Amino acid sequence: MASTTTTDSKPHAVCIPYPLQGHVKPMLKLAQLLHSLGFYITFVNTDFIHDRLLKAASITCFADFRFESFPDGLPPCSDDSSQDGYLLSEACHSNFLDPLRSLVARLGSRHGDISCPPVTCIIADGMMPFTITIAEQIGVPGMLLWPTSVCAFMALKYHHLLKEKELVPVPEGQLDSIVEWIPGLKDVRVRDLPLVHAPNGLSPMREAAQAFKASGIIFNSFNTLEQDLLDAISSMYPSVYAIGPLQMLLNSTSSGGEHPESVIGSSSIWKEEAQCLQWLHSKEPNSVVYISFGSRVTMTQQQLLEFAWGICNSNYPFLWVIRPDLVKGRSARLPPELLETIEGRGFIVSWCPQEQVLDHPSVRVFITHCGWNSTVESISAGMPMICWPCHCDQPINCRYSCRKWGIGMEMGNGIERDAVEKLVREVMERGEKLKQRAVEWKKLAEEATSGNSGSSSMNLKKLVEALLG
Ligand code: UDP
Repeated sequence: MASTTTTDSKPHAVCIPYPLQGHVKPMLKLAQLLHSLGFYITFVNTDFIHDRLLKAASITCFADFRFESFPDGLPPCSDDSSQDGYLLSEACHSNFLDPLRSLVARLGSRHGDISCPPVTCIIADGMMPFTITIAEQIGVPGMLLWPTSVCAFMALKYHHLLKEKELVPVPEGQLDSIVEWIPGLKDVRVRDLPLVHAPNGLSPMREAAQAFKASGIIFNSFNTLEQDLLDAISSMYPSVYAIGPLQMLLNSTSSGGEHPESVIGSSSIWKEEAQCLQWLHSKEPNSVVYISFGSRVTMTQQQLLEFAWGICNSNYPFLWVIRPDLVKGRSARLPPELLETIEGRGFIVSWCPQEQVLDHPSVRVFITHCGWNSTVESISAGMPMICWPCHCDQPINCRYSCRKWGIGMEMGNGIERDAVEKLVREVMERGEKLKQRAVEWKKLAEEATSGNSGSSSMNLKKLVEALLG
């Protein structure tokens, strides 16, 4: 876009993430990408998320990158914890449409009281397809950023067939059957499908069913990573844009672009403890185990202890993110005898700059719950994974990571210290093949996001054209 564009004549994208850490972060990256390409951005959070971002010093505003927020209607929640997922999903369905519609009406239109260019497109999280009607009402494209892998999206989209196939509830002996009725999906078992383990969380499949009503669907994935699935979707719905890994694309776009300053911040709702990077500097290359289960997973105190002793007994240095709310119903703590044993060898934080950690030369393996952001970040860093998936899209991400991409090893359901120790040793001492595959995927991700010819770069161009109408 021409560098002479004045703020008033810029295209104006309203970006609306679902109010959870793992959804806000990719939306902020997408917003920064569009900003670096000359878009005016209004980024809309719930008050809860916005306050948390400000408290964690994770965002900075620019004249043409503004934040707005609205109340979610939920009871107050402590600063250390996450909002209840079920209540949040209910609130999103009942409370969000009206305030979002009025906000959009106030933005730059003839009747609006917020001075900015007129809204020219709306991009919301895939969990919020009701925003498409707001876009339709003002006559602009309404797109969705799907926060999962493409394989998880397809599994959600075809979830209704589980009932037809008499797989709800899953009959004895069927968990390991291979799913052959989802286009593009390969070598996935029934047990890997989203929601098989969480029958009450019905929302994402309802949202996936509506996704094709959008003007476009955006994925933080790239063509070579999920080609079969992207081909399968494209044959049903043409406006699919795989533009990941978003951070890599952001790096390559901003470095040559018009707005290199458009780095908004870390986009974390917890304060990052950056001193862990200093600690990593003091460690040998390829010597450290990094452990994080994202922003939502919880475990029992016993599981925490089994992980802790397993990692500790492996004798490798480790960096572990233990969120204050990691153990359900109580604050997560390790016993003094364990803390003594790991002194100098283990570094524990409540939140860290994960992407910088994964890029650090001292880190050799990532023990992860396989959230999609963490998986993409691991691929971007060429980092092998030890996978402990819990729910939603995590089991299918794990399956693809381990079986198709060859970059992960799966930990069984039950956490047992000896098994944790054995797996850590296996990857640290004999994980060359995993590392090699991970580095190959990193190269393919770099190719996808490079210059003008990479598939994600080209898809971004097409996305911008579609947004400009
Ligand atoms: N994350 C982070 N610091 C941490 C732990 C996690 O910045 O200490 C970020 C991580 O980089 C990722 C996000 O939190 O972008 C977690 O998203 P993911 O989809 O992996 O899991 P979720 O939190 O949604 O379960």
